[in-house]
Amino acid sequence: MPRYLLVLVVLFIEVYSSPIKHKAVSSCQACHGVDPNKINVHLIPHSHDDVGWLKTVDQYYYGSHSEIQKAGVQYIISSTVEALKADPDRRFVQVETAFFWKWWQHQPDTIRQDFIDLVNSGQIEIINAAWSMNDEAAVNYHSTIDQFTYVFRIINDTIGKCGIPRIGWQIDPFGHSREQASIFAQLGYDGVFFARIDYTDRDQRIADKNMEVIWRGSANSENINIFTNVFPEFYYPPAGYCFDIECGDEVINDDTKSPDYNVPQRVEEFQKKVESLAAFYQTSNLLIPMGGDFQYQSAEKNFINMDKLIAGFKGNDKINIIYSTPSCYIKAVNDEATSKNIKFTLKTDDFFPYGSASHCYWTGYFTSRPNAKRFERTANNILQAGKQLASFSKVKGTDYDDDLTLLKQAVGILQHHDAITGTAKEAVANDYARLLNKGIKKAEPSLNVIVTNLLKKDASSDINLNLETCLLSNVSICEITKSERFIVSIYNPLERPVTHYVRVPVPDGTYKITGPDGEVTVDIVDSISSFEYIDTNFGTPSPKELVFAANDVPGFGIRLYYVEKTSAKSRPVKQSPKVKFGTDTTGFEIDEKTGLLKSVTMNGQTVEITQQFLYYNGFNGDNNGDDKQASGAYIFRPKENEATVVSDSVTVTSTTGTLVDEVRQQVNDWITQIIRVYKGENDNYIEFDWLIGQIEVDNDNGIGREIVSRFTVKDFDNGESFFTDSNGRELIKRQLNKRYDYEYDSTLEPIASNYYPVTSKIVIRDETKKLQVAVLNDRAQGGASLQNGALELMLHRRLLADDNKGVGEPLDDEEFGQGVVARGQLYLVVGSTDSNVSGGKSTAAQERELALKKLLNPLVLVGDASSDALSLDKVQSALNFNFEGLKTTLPDNVHILTLEPWKDDSYILRLEHILENNEDATLSTTATVNLEGLFTLFEITEIRETTLGANQWYDEYAAEDKYIWALKDGSSVSNKEAPVTVTADLQITLDPMQIRTFIIKVK
Ligand SMILES: [Zn+2]
Repeated sequence: MPRYLLVLVVLFIEVYSSPIKHKAVSSCQACHGVDPNKINVHLIPHSHDDVGWLKTVDQYYYGSHSEIQKAGVQYIISSTVEALKADPDRRFVQVETAFFWKWWQHQPDTIRQDFIDLVNSGQIEIINAAWSMNDEAAVNYHSTIDQFTYVFRIINDTIGKCGIPRIGWQIDPFGHSREQASIFAQLGYDGVFFARIDYTDRDQRIADKNMEVIWRGSANSENINIFTNVFPEFYYPPAGYCFDIECGDEVINDDTKSPDYNVPQRVEEFQKKVESLAAFYQTSNLLIPMGGDFQYQSAEKNFINMDKLIAGFKGNDKINIIYSTPSCYIKAVNDEATSKNIKFTLKTDDFFPYGSASHCYWTGYFTSRPNAKRFERTANNILQAGKQLASFSKVKGTDYDDDLTLLKQAVGILQHHDAITGTAKEAVANDYARLLNKGIKKAEPSLNVIVTNLLKKDASSDINLNLETCLLSNVSICEITKSERFIVSIYNPLERPVTHYVRVPVPDGTYKITGPDGEVTVDIVDSISSFEYIDTNFGTPSPKELVFAANDVPGFGIRLYYVEKTSAKSRPVKQSPKVKFGTDTTGFEIDEKTGLLKSVTMNGQTVEITQQFLYYNGFNGDNNGDDKQASGAYIFRPKENEATVVSDSVTVTSTTGTLVDEVRQQVNDWITQIIRVYKGENDNYIEFDWLIGQIEVDNDNGIGREIVSRFTVKDFDNGESFFTDSNGRELIKRQLNKRYDYEYDSTLEPIASNYYPVTSKIVIRDETKKLQVAVLNDRAQGGASLQNGALELMLHRRLLADDNKGVGEPLDDEEFGQGVVARGQLYLVVGSTDSNVSGGKSTAAQERELALKKLLNPLVLVGDASSDALSLDKVQSALNFNFEGLKTTLPDNVHILTLEPWKDDSYILRLEHILENNEDATLSTTATVNLEGLFTLFEITEIRETTLGANQWYDEYAAEDKYIWALKDGSSVSNKEAPVTVTADLQITLDPMQIRTFIIKVK
């Protein structure tokens, strides 16, 4: 019964019926001519509009608080539109969509039409286009893909075909990830441009004329490649040529009768500058960014002066200077490279870390503001579950997608390179948290309704569980679970069944829990802290945690649990005199004398391994000269080249439970940790639940501290190498004190220069012993392996000096009148390096699965059940305690990355192969997914592949001409992954690490 079919809705739908016109456009580019016999200078007018930094997003949009920064984005876009209309030769690039969308909604149709006309005529090019210009170290690929996808829908709906972005414009982020290159390539982008790379790398590239490379975004596919341009200087105009109202540079006076007439000397100086910069590049084309932070608020001033500069070069025999866009620039470079057989280097690693001077490594922000980094993950977790639930609801006739809009936008904002990075002012960071919270709270009532509806036995039942998130449960606060009776619902956003250990704060007592299969085993453990510093307006913390296993929550399924308090006092927690915890197969041992970790056992190995907290003293300089560089929000600069151990021995208490064993370590007054092992057969990891703060600092000397957790494996030789993930996906090998593309002096900053972003995990491998040790995390952090056998992650930082990179504040946030407390988890996995494990999964495959579970935790919602209407009997008679979203299972190596409502009655379905080549002998192979009869609530009736951002049909995209680039090894490459085949019975095959996006219709 074939029912797949490919024809779909018209992709570009007009949402504004009148008077906006989307004319048929043959070419959206209108590039000014280049001259093969001259240096072609491409002026790129642009404005860099941070989605929050020194001011909040709203303050930047409206231009309020000009005492902080004279910046108002609404004036930028409006005045630029007027300036462009005045002269068709002028060009501009529009970048941050969080601002553009706000602006668009405030415009009358006539101005909207002007904007569309300017895009269609090629005067405006929409580039980068994401909700914010995302950071590349701390973001997870999932959120990155989403914030592009969300914007692409908006652009298709409002601007139409000429708005389709083709250019990555990551001009300000502090280092560049390979996964970002991969995402850009798969979005269909032709190139990426940026300004910040390591200063030594830059010098080397300038010397080698290697400022443009072809960057391969994946070690698992040769087809994912993108042209990459590094700016000659920063993203500002050359010195002396900033014509913005913000700049005091000399304007151009072209009145020959005026005593200030200056065209000849302004042209001559510019020519000199251009000739020196052009020497960095292989072709005759030179891109000059003409803009900066929040420039073009009075755009005419910029354009008038650029007009005159261009006019001044008329007839110049060496220089052809034009208004241009990045797409026009790439076209010119490719045309010339093709005609002259110019070859480029292939880049296969990334641009981390970013050093801007000898003592200035931008590796602090990998960890700065750990709570913001975690909150973003939590919000994304809720958002993904929400999108799936909204899809289920929409299929059944009720559309709640709009209630997720605020959350989508807030998570998009958090990707910004001053948001998740922790490099905004404290007041702005607080506003980011407010936005996330607001987005979650807006989504919550709908999630409650959807979950309840999916469980109802009779659709007409009016039972309401009032389910909510308990966002403060990490500080033991949840008012609902203080109640004598409450309900816990667990929705699993993964496609595979998971056993989830639910932990909710509760008062002292004993509890009975009824789940789908009857009564459930419960452990009651002490909370990690009494959290007595928290303002009581936020609620009062509970002393205990109730732990139970939600066993095998089905993929895309729900399980409901009913909790009743049975007595006021819990049995006294049994202190365990043991030093060994866990099961025979997975567990750990504590050193009797020191209280520290001694060994771990899992995957058939027992490995001697310790874990300690250490701190670096942050360098407290006045930034007056490179050697006075301070450690701050952006920069990590330890005062000494060794970390100090916080404590050689720790006070230990421990409990053994039915489900979990816990060892509590009191490290000092401000660090506590619980080492934990769950006893289920699939729980192959040891959890380290850390609580740090307020960090004790040396106020007398202005010295802050940066806290790391370091694991040390005995007799382990990893050859001074380690692996870190790129935005949660592919691993990249790092070699201590070494870069692959350039020589650098590691002795200047031997610690900070060896730090890399760890978004998901860090791994060391001893190839002789065939043993690997991995630590996974719950948020992005900085990490390194500084000695053989050791690996460390920086968890929290508190610094007393500003590092002079713009934010103008030390990283010394306060909460509740004291330095910020942070809490989080690390997950330790040890096992064989072998990809071929008889009868089981390789260690690498286990790590992939664990990372996925931690990224997409079950959505736990709780509701007060103390009313009579919600007695156990009544709830049981009204609701099923179990819902299954999938009829069949997917292969172990395939993940449903996205299921969300799309346009009209269509949905996005995004599939991902979660393993790399060679990670697992069985799973690192082509996977076949069968979508037929997969979902319980619907059948797929139509399916068609799109590009990664769901804005172009893939077959149409693939049929477009792609740039071909010759490489120095004699080969040539382009960016062209072939479309996948969807068979008549809805089978799709995926290769390792592939992500494929589809629009589906269902019934
Ligand atoms: Zn910026």
